[in-house]
Amino acid sequence: MSTTAAAASTADRFEVRPSTTARSSDERDAILQAPTFGTAFSDHMARVSWTADGGWADRRVEAYGPLVLDPATAVLHYGQEIFEGLKAYHHADGSVWTFRPEANAARFARSARRLALPELPVEDFLGSIEALVRTDLAWVPSGEETSLYLRPFMYASEVFLGVRPTRQAEYVLIASPVGPYFSGGLKPVSIWVVRDYHRAGPGGTGAAKCGGNYAASLLPQQQAQARGCDQVCFLDAPTGSYLEELGGMNVFVVRADGSVTTPELNGSILEGVTRSSILTLLGEAGHEVHERPVPLEEVRSGLEDGSITEMFACGTAAVVTPIGRLASDDFDLTVGDGATGAVTSAIRTRLTDIQYGRAEDPHGWMRRLV
Ligand SMILES: *Cc1c(COP(=O)(O)O)cnc(C)c1O
Repeated sequence: MSTTAAAASTADRFEVRPSTTARSSDERDAILQAPTFGTAFSDHMARVSWTADGGWADRRVEAYGPLVLDPATAVLHYGQEIFEGLKAYHHADGSVWTFRPEANAARFARSARRLALPELPVEDFLGSIEALVRTDLAWVPSGEETSLYLRPFMYASEVFLGVRPTRQAEYVLIASPVGPYFSGGLKPVSIWVVRDYHRAGPGGTGAAKCGGNYAASLLPQQQAQARGCDQVCFLDAPTGSYLEELGGMNVFVVRADGSVTTPELNGSILEGVTRSSILTLLGEAGHEVHERPVPLEEVRSGLEDGSITEMFACGTAAVVTPIGRLASDDFDLTVGDGATGAVTSAIRTRLTDIQYGRAEDPHGWMRRLV
């Protein structure tokens, strides 16, 4: 069966109820001219509702609009919520594709399990994306480095203040046309290594993509900014001596000998699809790649003696972001010469060339939506 035929069948699971308040093509074009991250949304959203008794039901695409919540809705009190993030890319021939959505579907199911939410079937996850992107095809921007950011999420919708897993949940998919995540282009960011707070710990929810992890990262992020840094990097909770990741991006270290290291998955690091793809692509490009614990001390001395030449962060939204400076209470170091390094730049190009259809896709990572 071809990818396109499979796609048709999953999208057909969803009933399309067209919006009566869709924006005019002029309004839409004005937004698509200068998309900024997460500010404007397409005309529709996809939804599936779940109850413990009836399972998943009512798969539909309907007008984008407010969710009306009873004040006693469980998610508002105990944060039983998960989400995903992926993108739809316009290719030069007019087709629209997404990148490794099966990986996001699998992670969404793992996150659901950890948060005691129901697992959404893969076909519904993929079907919602196909149905929404087909309905709102005109919202996929075609400018350079633009895409339609897709945000699937699920929350406990039961009206009940008791503390137990919800018996009612809502899955929703919304879409937002986006340009580059950090305004100002591929500019190296500065990172504050936080000592007083952790994002996640052993047995916690760090490996799940849940809103609560982000809530916990906001105060340290604010403190990093107060100290003149763009982003925060967290250390492991048990020892406070190994790099884990940023608030929403995985981290890589590049050495002068061309080898590349990223913290190994230890249960508190989020397994990024971008991280995994970059590991594969770096290996193919001839780099020695290592997944292992990365001591902060090793990074400090490597930056001081020049054996570490580049660092970068990665994730779907910002793709690959060079790190130009690493600082904390007791050090302030420039990474390489502070500019975007050659390995960082090459891996970003390699990955985006596949995503935007400018290069072949040898791994079958792209899935055609339209
Ligand atoms: C989503 C996320 C990432 C990046 O994952 P991708 O699949 O590459 O987008 C990294 N860290 C955290 C904490 C995340 O939530």
